[in-house]
Amino acid sequence: MKVKYIPGVGYDSNVYLLGEEDPIVVDTGTGAYADTVLEEISKVVPLKRIGRIVLTHSHYDHMGGAAQFQKATGSRIYLHEEEARPILSGDYSFTLSGMFGADLGKLDVESLKSGQRLKSGSSLIEVLHTPGHSPGSIVLLDREGASAAVGDTVFCDGGVGRWDLPGGDLKKLQSSLAIIRSLGLKNMYPGHGSYAEGDAPEHLKLATGYLEGVYR
Ligand SMILES: [Zn+2]
Repeated sequence: MKVKYIPGVGYDSNVYLLGEEDPIVVDTGTGAYADTVLEEISKVVPLKRIGRIVLTHSHYDHMGGAAQFQKATGSRIYLHEEEARPILSGDYSFTLSGMFGADLGKLDVESLKSGQRLKSGSSLIEVLHTPGHSPGSIVLLDREGASAAVGDTVFCDGGVGRWDLPGGDLKKLQSSLAIIRSLGLKNMYPGHGSYAEGDAPEHLKLATGYLEGVYR
């Protein structure tokens, strides 16, 4: 499956466009650069062809742009049920929008469950629940392509997501990282910084070593 990488500027998360026929946008950044990001996306696919925005988790630096993206594309917004549920009931505490001094307004989101599959062209994207950085963090896995968008669970060069924010959990982060390592990924696309193509195992090994060090 084709992956378009749009690196995050400032606090913004990276944005990924998965596939071209029936594409999925992964994460949206804070919204501060939404116009630029949408322009980048429109160079690959017409915006109106995008029907789904999937958020790897609800932190403001990933979700802040969701409303603007939704307006430009007419997409639905999806995220894991553990973070969709509070948002639907008006509880935005997991989003950290207060920390960013921002107001997300009212967002209409839809729930994803672990194991759910999203079809994009000839590819199947599987949703895997990987809590630890946040309670509803997910990985979007293309098993056939040995590729995954991993959100803020793990980064390149041995980085891992923070576990000290509301709903974070170090033990869960460690189990989630073990799950990601067991997937046999070649490529991984994290929520911040660079991505890995071909050498994902090396990056995942470094991150595992780092977390083992934290426990000592
Ligand atoms: Zn985050």
